[in-house]
Amino acid sequence: MFDQSFWRAKKDKPRSLFYISDVLGDFPAFVDTTDSAGCPTLVALLTGQQVDDMAKDQQPFIERAGEVLKEMFPDTYRAPTAVHVTGWGVDPFSLGSYSAPVIGVTAEHYEQLAAPVAGRVLFAGEATYREHSGFVEGAIGSGVREARRILAREVDLSL
Ligand SMILES: Cc1cc2nc3c(=O)[nH]c(=O)nc-3n(C[C@H](O)[C@H](O)[C@H](O)COP(=O)(O)OP(=O)(O)OC[C@H]3O[C@@H](n4cnc5c(N)ncnc54)[C@H](O)[C@@H]3O)c2cc1C
Repeated sequence: MFDQSFWRAKKDKPRSLFYISDVLGDFPAFVDTTDSAGCPTLVALLTGQQVDDMAKDQQPFIERAGEVLKEMFPDTYRAPTAVHVTGWGVDPFSLGSYSAPVIGVTAEHYEQLAAPVAGRVLFAGEATYREHSGFVEGAIGSGVREARRILAREVDLSL
């Protein structure tokens, strides 16, 4: 959270930012959520090994995010007035964010994850839906798929 949206070219126009670093996963994107948050706000994204490292010590990463923004906006940068760090990987209620296929994952793996056990235990969730895994669309699609399986017929479940 900032006292001014110094990254916006036009004050009333959202502007998300992309950063190409020499270091893999080093703050590739900052999403401008000012309008939904109701005050100047950026959501800084971090990926890969750095996420695990940040779970152990947040401060260097908070400082690094500031450095990246300062590099992009050397003349107008302002330090944040508040920072909130999420930890999807260590939060016991999520233990991760969403699935991301690594090299070697095939369509068959998704089918295995979606396969019912003994015809009685069914699985939904974005990770079971190959076409839109990682997205809300996949989560909803998988729920509709399993509802159809339970009902054992095609029904109109469009939302
Ligand atoms: C930071 C972030 C940004 C994202 N941005 C987007 C986006 O812009 N667009 C988009 O489409 N998607 C986005 N996603 C992905 C989207 O949120 C997920 O794909 C979607 O929520 C997956 O839904 P799901 O029902 O499969 O799983 P989840 O929403 O993860 O639901 C699983 C539920 O099971 C519960 N649970 C886990 N273990 C247990 C247990 N043992 N007992 C009982 N309950 C349990 C969890 O608490 C959770 O409530 C984003 C995700 C994150 C983390």
